[in-house]
Amino acid sequence: MTVRAERTAILALTRSGGELASRLAEQLGAELFLTPRAGGAGDTLVGDVVTTLQELFLAGRPIIALAASGIVIRALAPVLLSKRLEPPVVVVTEDGAEVIPLLGGHRGSNALALEVAAITGGHAALSTAGERHFGIALDAPPPGWVLENPEDAKAAMAALLDGAALEMEGNPAGAEAWLAPLENGREADGAGKGHAAVRLHFGPGGATGDNPVSGDGIILKYRPKRHVLGLGCARDCPPEELRQLAESVLAEAGIVPAALHSVATIDIKADEPAILTLARDWQCPVQFFTADELERETPRSASPSGIVKAEVGTHGVAENAALAAVGAAGRLVLAKRKTARATAALAEAPGPIDALRGRPRGRLAVIGIGPGAPTWRTPEASRLIAEAEELVGYGLYLDLLGPLARGKKRVEFPLGSEEARCRHALEAAGAGRRVALVSSGDAGIYAMGALVCELLDRPVDEGGVSDAARRAEIVFAPGITAMQAASARAGALIGHDFCAISLSDLLTPRETILARIEAAARGDFVIAFYNPVSRRRQDLLVQARDMLLKHRPADTPVVLARDLGRTDERVEIVRLADLTPGRVDMLTVVLVGSSASRRFRQGGNDRAYTPRGYARKLDGG
Ligand code: SAH
Repeated sequence: MTVRAERTAILALTRSGGELASRLAEQLGAELFLTPRAGGAGDTLVGDVVTTLQELFLAGRPIIALAASGIVIRALAPVLLSKRLEPPVVVVTEDGAEVIPLLGGHRGSNALALEVAAITGGHAALSTAGERHFGIALDAPPPGWVLENPEDAKAAMAALLDGAALEMEGNPAGAEAWLAPLENGREADGAGKGHAAVRLHFGPGGATGDNPVSGDGIILKYRPKRHVLGLGCARDCPPEELRQLAESVLAEAGIVPAALHSVATIDIKADEPAILTLARDWQCPVQFFTADELERETPRSASPSGIVKAEVGTHGVAENAALAAVGAAGRLVLAKRKTARATAALAEAPGPIDALRGRPRGRLAVIGIGPGAPTWRTPEASRLIAEAEELVGYGLYLDLLGPLARGKKRVEFPLGSEEARCRHALEAAGAGRRVALVSSGDAGIYAMGALVCELLDRPVDEGGVSDAARRAEIVFAPGITAMQAASARAGALIGHDFCAISLSDLLTPRETILARIEAAARGDFVIAFYNPVSRRRQDLLVQARDMLLKHRPADTPVVLARDLGRTDERVEIVRLADLTPGRVDMLTVVLVGSSASRRFRQGGNDRAYTPRGYARKLDGG
């Protein structure tokens, strides 16, 4: 789980806050977000403070807010959904005197608060006990290291606070900066007071590694993440078989799963359930190499096999993948072990590994962002966008994402090139990238979802996508569709049985469209017409109206909803007999009530709804 180095965002709401914010932004190289009151203009202008805070947070950006902590807490509470992404959030008083890390303590908010306090000459109000005292959290070691026994961290911290001595053992290469505040704290404290010492042991551990000599007191065992488990298996190998093999290999080497840097295998296993399940359960990154990349490791491998070469194009998978992942300075610790359907091998690098040499499994998130308003976007969609590196979609929809889209690669396609758009998104995911394919409304309703499925379902030689794309993780996330937003704006017009019909005849023959309108008319369904007109097609809507008028009254309520959730939103309710193409355009969804639908005035608004029959029940009818 790598922390992405997102640029810090500084937000200020008032003029005096704006001045301090500008100074901090300059010194920290951060991006400013100012309200007009704080002196904002152009790009730095913040519209809705709550939305901006939420979007920056979901985008994983460290946030420094010159605002009341209550505002920040209330804004972020609804989006506290992904611990993995939680960036540091620090609140600063406008005079800079108090600096309060609110969230993301283990992701650097304490450090960020200390940095800000150093600039303002203020006081960083660290609230985590250990960090307050020592400047670090013993159970959150720096990248590249893992604490093998986190359950002992609390007791160690308590003993230290109580005056126990601190002893450092082994080689904390790469963790020195993390440890520095602790050592300073200890000097100030004065050690001893008759407690058994707390020992921080830095070493590779394992059967052959550097292990602490047991003794009195608490030993916290920090392990460098420098081992990679290479895996191979037959298609649909039972996950239990692979797990047992993997566990036995780690046990033989004396390594706990938490100390593994990653598991590695060949790219054709990117969708292999046994490997993915193991990596997920161990919360361990998984990386993939091509057969060619693996073959380069054969001179270093212990058990090259001609049979494997004939099957997958490399003389070995498990050993070669482990070796490729630890790099040229690494070595094989345990040669290939195997069961009937699986193989595993362990390699180690000389020090902590901080990068993937292979590719991660790509992911395509097929997302609907709702009709327009950010508040109509689900937290799941926001999270998937925040996690994406690349956004694919129609420019207008990507613009609607605001700060959430900043800093990400954007691939825009004009309207009409839907297939190219989906193909690009799938292939990018196949190449190991995290991609979000963005539609308005719901991605599965007259949008990209079905086309993505079609390209995956079609054979390669009939225009389907590559095998690599098929192996990517594909996530479909629902969104609020235009029909729901229109019905809600009016009241509850889809309160009883309804259907949706697109009047676009580009992909559907007219006879089919007309047959469906006729069936919906006979069925007395409430109907949502998507794509009601285009510049060259106005007549279908007229035909639809006339067909419907044969089955439902002339004053049946019709909701015309345009630009829902956007600044130019317009919603009106008209009579079915008055429905003309001139009243609608491509950005309008048309909802026609059933014969039971009604209309009334309430609080100065026109309302329309379709009763479910409760009223009759209440009447005793
Ligand atoms: N996936 C979208 C639909 C895309 S089809 C969804 O689920 O909403 C395009 C049609 O959707 C438009 O012609 C219009 O009828 C409707 N539509 C999409 N967004 C809209 C909006 N914000 N306001 C009104 N109608 C909208």
